[in-house]
Amino acid sequence: MTTLLPAPRVTLSRLHAPTLQTIPEAVAENVRRVRATCSARIMAVVKADGYGHGAVTVAEAAVAAGAEWLGVTDVADAVALRDAGFTVPILSWLNPSGADAETAAALRIDVAVGSVEELRQLIADAVDPVRVHLHLDTGMARGGCPLDDWEELFRTARAGRGRVEVVGVMGHLPRADEADPRANAAAVLRFRHGRDAVLRAGFGPVLVHLAATSGALTDPGTHFDMVRIGAGLVGIDPSGATTLAGAARWTAPVVHSALVPAGTAVGYGGAHITERETHLSVVGVGYADGIPRELAAEAAVAIDGARYPIVGRVSMDQIVIDTGAVPVPRGTVATVFGPEGGVVPSVQEWARWAGSIPHTVVTGIGARVQRSVA
Ligand SMILES: *Cc1c(COP(=O)(O)O)cnc(C)c1O
Repeated sequence: MTTLLPAPRVTLSRLHAPTLQTIPEAVAENVRRVRATCSARIMAVVKADGYGHGAVTVAEAAVAAGAEWLGVTDVADAVALRDAGFTVPILSWLNPSGADAETAAALRIDVAVGSVEELRQLIADAVDPVRVHLHLDTGMARGGCPLDDWEELFRTARAGRGRVEVVGVMGHLPRADEADPRANAAAVLRFRHGRDAVLRAGFGPVLVHLAATSGALTDPGTHFDMVRIGAGLVGIDPSGATTLAGAARWTAPVVHSALVPAGTAVGYGGAHITERETHLSVVGVGYADGIPRELAAEAAVAIDGARYPIVGRVSMDQIVIDTGAVPVPRGTVATVFGPEGGVVPSVQEWARWAGSIPHTVVTGIGARVQRSVA
């Protein structure tokens, strides 16, 4: 027989929990900055839980600031947005868990199709018409229909009339991290060609969309009817051409502090040895929370207007910082990154320290980091 023990009365420490705070006003500001350079409609792309910032929070701010569409990679994510009350058009373009035709039709979730096979499946499954966007591979070989199969895709769509309705044409630019329009010129040309073929095939009015954040900010020739903005919403310009507003602040508590002598080995493997007597503080976030394990020596967090370096190896749940002559009491709140600049590290700095891109920093933050909204 199993006896259920009464729940123990644990008094949890009253430390500030590791928290990622999303800043909706920054998302709105970023939508306005895109709007200032681009008159096409804006689709707010909130895949990967709104690039780690919370899909619903980011979508709400973006739609309130003028985004007319939402974009995700999976129909299930689109369903979650409908459940949250969004009524704007939603496009889902990858559907790794399968595009459920019935759900897509019932909830008016548009589906992008990038192959004849995918389209046939959708037609076979559909009862009520599903709105589809034909997705052309514009030179990336990562999803999208090759130009060689484009006409076959049209024939399939035409044969499936009544079960699918073609409402859009999309492509995606391979050189998202280059601000020079010449880098994508061949892709744009191929896309125009593919778009013209769709119009000739007589599908009726279609929404034409190619650019993501960097195209929207740097190359008007890529704008067409709509731009799909994801990274830009949360303050990341992949082209590096502009500075956008950081949309999150990640904080975590100091959980332990000590004054140690010179020659102290810090963390696993003793990878760092203190050169002088110094204060060390343990901050309660580690690689399980999304702190990259491989970091440059400059990697740091901010406390009370000063930046302190991370020393020794990043552990699963904790990092150690060297605060020199400054004793930092347990419970002090450290800022891992934030939008303010100055001593507060930015997401972009973390990406450099990790030898990666800002996207991996914001999408890699673990589930136990609490989420809040400013
Ligand atoms: C992620 C994605 C976007 C958004 O790209 P950003 O550079 O983050 O703005 C747009 N379109 C497609 C197909 C995507 O996968």
